Amino acid sequence: MAYKITDACISCGACAAECPVEAISEGDGKYEIDAEKCIDCGTCAETCPVEAPVAD
Ligand code: SF4
Ligand code: SF4
Repeated sequence: MAYKITDACISCGACAAECPVEAISEGDGKYEIDAEKCIDCGTCAETCPVEAPVAD
């Protein structure tokens, strides 16, 4: 299990700053989650202003 970021992402960077395992990085047009690192904590979803991170 891992979270993933949908196209709703506005690239604000808030989730990347809050992720405890630094699994989130800026990608092409939106931020991306490294599924190998994600521990499924849900912090990114709670932090995001547009609800872009979703449980995959
Ligand atoms: Fe990081 Fe947690 Fe979001 Fe996974 S669910 S990307 S560990 S903040
Ligand atoms: Fe994108 Fe939401 Fe993360 Fe901001 S907090 S970079 S809008 S996923």
